[in-house]
Amino acid sequence: MNVRQYFSIIPGLLIRLAVLSSILLAGSAVASMQGRPGFQLENIDQSIAAADDFYSYANGNWLIANPIPDEESRWGTFNILRSNNTRQVRYILEAAAENTVAEEGSEIKKIGDFYATGLDTDKADRLGLTPIRPELDMIKDINNLYDLQMTLQHFQLHGIDAIFNIGQMQDFTNSNRIITVFDQGGLGLPERDYYFKQDTKTLNIRNAYLRHIATLFRMLGINEQAAHKAAKAVITIETDLARLSLSRSQRRDPAAVYHLLNKKKLNTLLPSFQWKTYFSRLDLLQTEEINITNPDYFQNLEKLLHHHPISAWKYYLQWRLLDTTARTLSAPFVNQNFAFKSMLSGSKEIKPRWRRVTDETNRILGFAIGHIYVDLYFPASSKKRVIDILENIRNALNVSLSENNLLAPATKRAAIEKLNAMRSKIAYPANWRDYTDLVVTRDSYARNLLNGNAFLIRRELNKIGNQTTTNEWLMTPQSVNAYYNPSMNEIVFPAGILQPPFFDSAAPEALNYGAIGAVIGHEISHGFDDQGSHFDSTGNLKNWWSLTDKNNFNNAAACISKQFDGYTVDGDAQIQGKLVTGEAIADLLGLTLAWQAFVRANNSTEIDPEFNLSTAKLFYFGFAHVWAGAARPEYLRTSVQTDPHPPALFRVNGTLINFPPFMETFNTKPGDRLYKPTPCKIW
Ligand SMILES: [Zn+2]
Repeated sequence: MNVRQYFSIIPGLLIRLAVLSSILLAGSAVASMQGRPGFQLENIDQSIAAADDFYSYANGNWLIANPIPDEESRWGTFNILRSNNTRQVRYILEAAAENTVAEEGSEIKKIGDFYATGLDTDKADRLGLTPIRPELDMIKDINNLYDLQMTLQHFQLHGIDAIFNIGQMQDFTNSNRIITVFDQGGLGLPERDYYFKQDTKTLNIRNAYLRHIATLFRMLGINEQAAHKAAKAVITIETDLARLSLSRSQRRDPAAVYHLLNKKKLNTLLPSFQWKTYFSRLDLLQTEEINITNPDYFQNLEKLLHHHPISAWKYYLQWRLLDTTARTLSAPFVNQNFAFKSMLSGSKEIKPRWRRVTDETNRILGFAIGHIYVDLYFPASSKKRVIDILENIRNALNVSLSENNLLAPATKRAAIEKLNAMRSKIAYPANWRDYTDLVVTRDSYARNLLNGNAFLIRRELNKIGNQTTTNEWLMTPQSVNAYYNPSMNEIVFPAGILQPPFFDSAAPEALNYGAIGAVIGHEISHGFDDQGSHFDSTGNLKNWWSLTDKNNFNNAAACISKQFDGYTVDGDAQIQGKLVTGEAIADLLGLTLAWQAFVRANNSTEIDPEFNLSTAKLFYFGFAHVWAGAARPEYLRTSVQTDPHPPALFRVNGTLINFPPFMETFNTKPGDRLYKPTPCKIW
C-alpha cells in the first residue's frame, strides 16, 4: 500500500496495460512510432500559442494522427510504448505455450500453461461454472456467521475482494518490521462516492450496476424476480460498507490509516468472528500487532453482520466471486462483465483475448516473464546512462537544498539526509522471484487465476514477522511505470520505462532530461510531497520539519490544491485538488530538478542541429511529449474520482504555469493563459 506510481491504473477494472497486435503495427495508431519514436517537429500545432496552451501546441498534430482505438479507454505515447512491450511479452508467452519439452514445474512450463489455458475459450465455454463450483458450494453451505467467516477467509486468501482485505506492510513507525494490515474493501464500484452521488451520470452507473449484478445472478440460474431482489440486497450491503469507508483523499494522510492495535482488540471490535481460528488458518498465531487502517469500519462491521440476514450476505459473497472471476469464465460472463466495465472506461470494444490473457499472465507470473524480457530486449547500456541522469538530478536537489535560505537548518539537514539515503533501483531486480509454490495447470483459466492470487497473497503474508528486505520489487521489469516507496525511501524505474519516448540513447540530451529526467525528478520528489514528507530518511513516519517550514509547505500544497480544484474534464467533472496534490507537487518539483540538472550539465542556449531549436525549448517538448494522448470522457470521469494523478493536459499545463524558467523560454506575458503573476512555489 501507499506506493506512489507514476501512472495509476483504475482499481476494480482489469489491469489495463494497453496492447496492440503485431498486425496493427503498420496502422495509423502507431504512425509516430515509425522512424525514430519520440518527439518530432511535425507534432507541433503552430495554430496554438505555446504561452496559452503548451500541451496542445506541442502535441496537437500528434493527437490528430493518433485517435483512440475502439478497444482503448485512453491512448497516448506511453500507451504505445506499453503496447510494444506487451507485443514483446506476447512472443515470450507464445513460445512458452508451444514449448512441449518444458520441464514440469519450471517457470517456462507455468507461463506456457497459464497463457495457453487462458486462450482456450472453448474449454472455458464448456466448463461453464465448474471452475468456481467449490466456492459456490461453500457459499450455499453458509448457515451462520462462523461459516461466513470461513468462506470470507477463503476468499481473502484467493484474491476475491469481499468485506475487508488483509495483507502486510512495513510498520509506519518502525520500517524494519513487517506487520499485518486489515483494510476496508469489498466494493464493486470504483470509489465510495459512487454509492452516494446524486448526479445523473452517477445515477446511471448505479442503475446499470444493479442490472449488471442481476444479469449475472440470472446466469447462475436464479429467476428474474429473485435475481433482482438479490442484486438489491448486494447493493444495500455495499452501500453500508461504502458509508463506513474512508475516501481516497482521506486515505492520503498516513496518520489516518495507521492504527496499530493488539490483535486481541479485534475481539472487542468484531466479537462475532472467531479470531483464534482465523489467525491460525493464516499461520499468524504468533503475530501481536496489527494495523487496522480504519477501526470505525471494523467496529461498525460487527453491527452490519447482524443487521443483514445471512441470506443477504450469501448473495453478496456470490456477487464478489462473480465480479472477480467473470472475466475468466465462459463467453456470456466475459461479455456481460465488459458491458458494465466499459461504462466506466468508455472502451468501445473488448480487447482481443490474447491481450487480456497477456495482462493476466503478467500479473501472476510477471517476474518470470520479466527475467526473459530483460535478457531479450533490454540493452544494458541504457542502465548506465539513466543512472548518470539520476545522479545529476539528485545532485541538483542537493545543491538547491544547500542553497535554500528559507528552510531552518535542522529541516534542511534532515531533507538532505533523506535525499542521500534514497535508494534507487534501475531496470530489473538483482534476485528473481521464486515461483516454486505456484500451481498452474491446463485444467481451467479461472482456477489458474484463483491459484495465482493465492500464491501472491500467501507470499505477502509469509513476510509478516520478518525483517524488511531491500531486494523486493513492486513492479515487474516490463512495466512502463515507476514508483517511490516512502517506507523504503526508494525510487524504482523498471526497464520498460527506459525506452522512447522516455529515454532514447540516440536523442538529444535535452529531450531525455525533459522526459525521463522529469520522471526521475518526480519520483525523488515524492519523498517530499504532501504524503512522503511525513516519512524520514529511514522510511519511518516521523516529523522532521520545523513548525514554520511545515506551515510554509502546507501553504504551498494548498496553493497547488486550489489551482487544480479549478480544472474540470468532460464539461463538469471537477478535479479534486486534495486528491491530486501529491502528484502535482511531484510533477512541479520533478520538472524543476530535471531542469536544474539539465542546465548544469548542458548549454541550454545552444541550438540543436537536428531540430533547429534551442535545447531549452527541446527540454519542454520532451516533457510534454510523454503526455501526448487522449482519453474517453467516461475514463476521465472515473479517473478524477479515483486517480491521484491529474489528467495529462493538466500534468503539462498545470505544472508549467508554476515554472518561471518556462515562462522565460517561451516568453509568456500577462494576458497569456500560462502566465501567473505569483506561481505556486514548493520551496
Ligand atoms: Zn507520482
